[in-house]
Amino acid sequence: MSSDAHGSALDRIPQQAVNPGREQGVWLTRYLKHRFGRGESESSAAGAPASRHQTLVDQIRDYAIFMLDPDGRVATWNAGAERIKGYTAEEIIGSSYATFFSPDARREGRPDDILRRAVDHGVVRDVGIRVRKDGSEFYAEATITALRDGRGLLQGFAKVTRDVTDKVAQERALVAAQQRFARSFEKAPIGMALCDFQGRITEANEALGVLLGRSCEELGGLSLSDLDHPADAGPAERVRRRLLEAKGDVSFETRLLHATGRTVWAQVAAAMLHEDDGSVEQLLVQVLDISEQRRVKDLLAHQAVHDPLTGLPNRLLMLDRIEHAFGRCKRQPDCIAALLFIDLDRFKPINDTLGHDAGDQVLLTVARRLATCVRPGDTVARLGGDEFTILCEGLDDSTVAEMIAARAREGIEQPMVVAGRTVYVGASVGIALCCNPPDSPASLLADADAAMYEAKARGHGGVVTYSREMRSQATSRIELETRLREGIERDEFVVVYQPQFDLNTGLAVGVEALLRWRQDPNGELVAPGSFIPLAEETGLIIPIGRRVLERACGDLAGWCADHPDMPPLRMSVNLSAAQFLDEELAVMVDQIISSAGVDPTLLELEVTESVLMRDAGATLNTLLALKGRGVRLAIDDFGTGYSSLAYLQRFPVDILKIDRAFVEGLGRRTGSGALIGAMVSMGQALGMTVVAEGIETAGELQELKDLGCDVGQGFHLGRPQPLDSLSQVLGAAAPSGAGSAKTAP
Ligand code: C2E
Ligand code: MG
Ligand code: MG
Repeated sequence: MSSDAHGSALDRIPQQAVNPGREQGVWLTRYLKHRFGRGESESSAAGAPASRHQTLVDQIRDYAIFMLDPDGRVATWNAGAERIKGYTAEEIIGSSYATFFSPDARREGRPDDILRRAVDHGVVRDVGIRVRKDGSEFYAEATITALRDGRGLLQGFAKVTRDVTDKVAQERALVAAQQRFARSFEKAPIGMALCDFQGRITEANEALGVLLGRSCEELGGLSLSDLDHPADAGPAERVRRRLLEAKGDVSFETRLLHATGRTVWAQVAAAMLHEDDGSVEQLLVQVLDISEQRRVKDLLAHQAVHDPLTGLPNRLLMLDRIEHAFGRCKRQPDCIAALLFIDLDRFKPINDTLGHDAGDQVLLTVARRLATCVRPGDTVARLGGDEFTILCEGLDDSTVAEMIAARAREGIEQPMVVAGRTVYVGASVGIALCCNPPDSPASLLADADAAMYEAKARGHGGVVTYSREMRSQATSRIELETRLREGIERDEFVVVYQPQFDLNTGLAVGVEALLRWRQDPNGELVAPGSFIPLAEETGLIIPIGRRVLERACGDLAGWCADHPDMPPLRMSVNLSAAQFLDEELAVMVDQIISSAGVDPTLLELEVTESVLMRDAGATLNTLLALKGRGVRLAIDDFGTGYSSLAYLQRFPVDILKIDRAFVEGLGRRTGSGALIGAMVSMGQALGMTVVAEGIETAGELQELKDLGCDVGQGFHLGRPQPLDSLSQVLGAAAPSGAGSAKTAP
């Protein structure tokens, strides 16, 4: 609320004008002219009749114009005063002008105070709350002029008042808005700066300071371009240009430089703040730190095309690289690109028996070794599981691809130490050349895969280059799955039995049920090695395994019924790991045993070491459930996994079947005998019956007997065949004298 003196101007008001008598119209006209700068010229106004001026003043409706006597009583009153204050002239003339103030203001002596100031300064401007006749309040802007006669004696006051309630409300709203903006600006959680159009920062908030590692004052002296990341071409300039082009607000992601030199990824939004005339007053720049989002986004983008374990490119990225290689082959027809498809050999037993952490270690080691045997431009990728690929570009001829494959294999075959053990893995490699690009990157991958399968089929550790015939073999895997399903429906699976002999007495003690597939009614029986892996992969082993168990139990029941005089026959049935994961296994075994009506103690179920290593807790429960039904349990192919007898001890296992590979070495490999001897004595010490598999010669048989092995099985003693044709063998001792009573041939 300001007040200002206009003493000099008022001094020029003629004497009669300050006389509030008859002449009031004249002086008011002059006063108004002086105060508001409108109306007639002084000369013409001076000659105008007083009634005209009176009428003029009376008719002004936007201003309350009235006079007070020296004591502050209302002396004159115009239409504007009546409109603004609500009193008629009759009602108010003679009353104190304090009537227009609130009781509080009156108590504080405000009306007198204003008049006193007018007396002191000549003219006083006052803005404050006044009260209308109806009691309502309004904001008034008043100019009070002290009127003096020629000798300087106070004659009264002239008062011109305007209702400025709306204006005050607007001003207050503006101030409040400015305060709100200032508070939001200062306390905003995102960085904010006000800049001139040249990008010079005029004000910056605390958050921007924190974001860039500088104080607000420091930022105040900088330009937007000082915050640019050196690697980028002037984001600050971009703000300016984009604003000009967009003619509105802009928003974009950019890199800024932290005071420490680190990169800050930011979402920058800039808006032009306009003056009323449309010119750009300043820029409001908002900066949000998105470094974390950016890191996550980059990470996700990286993860989408990389293998999380090894960090190598994944299949998606590899397919993209192959696509590029195709382009290069087209541009440079002399250049050859080769895709090597690598599948590890002997990886599964490590993963199954030493655990997934050990498996991961092997994969990491392989990834590192592969990375060292390629040239800088080549791409090594992991497709998943134990499958890796290498894309080699710019080769002069295809033999280079074979050399790289050989190098990769050599690298992989070096011993590795994982989980405190030395393990050995190998690799089978398929090569597909892209000198004559096939239809798509995926088909090149399929070709290399087919070549790898061929390498596997020819024996572990080979390298094979793709040829057209291999594609049909690859397709045949899909066909094989279809055929397996048809085989189950058509009941094409049969079971043959291989006899087992007590090596002490030479008497047959049992048979192992072995699965065969009669694909063609007159054709040969197909051995399980060619279809069990796929059946396990596809889960078809579950219905097939059930069929085997039903058949074996049915045949055992029939045998027992047909040969009541013969000693009871033990029946061994193989279970695959997939069947073992089936929670219903024990229930299924129960059902089959009871519906066949066989003595459960005659049934033996064979599992491999890997089953026991997988999930010890769950496995133990299933084994105990089976044991609870009287079934005996055997560990098959012992020695091929990475388990130890000390580990197996915790499972309720009755029989230990030493893998054929150890028996094969007897008499040929030094130490084989000692190894089997150790297995036999340890197995027996743990209360297990020890069975040797794959006895092919009399020499092997003899040695096993000498080593104290309990039971033997092998082509030398009896080949797998239908149960009926075994009646002679089962009723007698082993043909080549398995028992100690017999002499070796
Ligand atoms: P396994 O359980 O170790 O069975 C012994 C395998 O060795 C059989 O091969 C048998 O024919 C073969 N064999 C026996 N004596 C000799 C010998 O003196 N020399 C040689 N070289 N081999 C001998 P088969 O029948 O081809 O079965 C291979 C594997 O397939 C089995 O090994 C077993 O792991 C699996 N298998 C067989 N039948 C079934 C089944 O019904 N279910 C499941 N899950 N797996 C089965
Ligand atoms: Mg077996
Ligand atoms: Mg076996």
